[in-house]
Amino acid sequence: MDSCIFCKIIKGEIPCNKVYEDEKILAFKDISPEAPVHILIIPKKHIESLSTLEEDDKDVISHIFIKAKEIGEKMGIAQSGYRIVNNCGVDGGQTVSHMHFHILGGRSLQWPPG
Ligand code: AMP
Ligand code: ZN
Repeated sequence: MDSCIFCKIIKGEIPCNKVYEDEKILAFKDISPEAPVHILIIPKKHIESLSTLEEDDKDVISHIFIKAKEIGEKMGIAQSGYRIVNNCGVDGGQTVSHMHFHILGGRSLQWPPG
């Protein structure tokens, strides 16, 4: 996807503050953090949103969650706790059309969010 900002980050055309990378996924710090720890985890495959996820993508989803757990440990928030968020589509507040999961932690987070 040529115009996708997260695909550009994956290709190295836009810089990011990388936290973790392997052949399937990339994790980097959110440019506009909502919490002391705010990491985005994205699949390297361009998947528009959770609503366009296909059966073949299930491995990358489980991989993202296993690595989210490890990133939580690495960032020092595993014990205090954290929230994983996926915004899907317009009503879900998704602003970047490349599926991503937010890891938020380092402070007490309200539920439900505003
Ligand atoms: P969402 O609203 O769920 O689509 O989240 C998109 C997130 O991407 C927002 O939290 C933005 O702050 C973040 N974001 C947008 N552009 C960048 C970028 N170049 N580097 C890091 N995070 C970004
Ligand atoms: Zn993309």
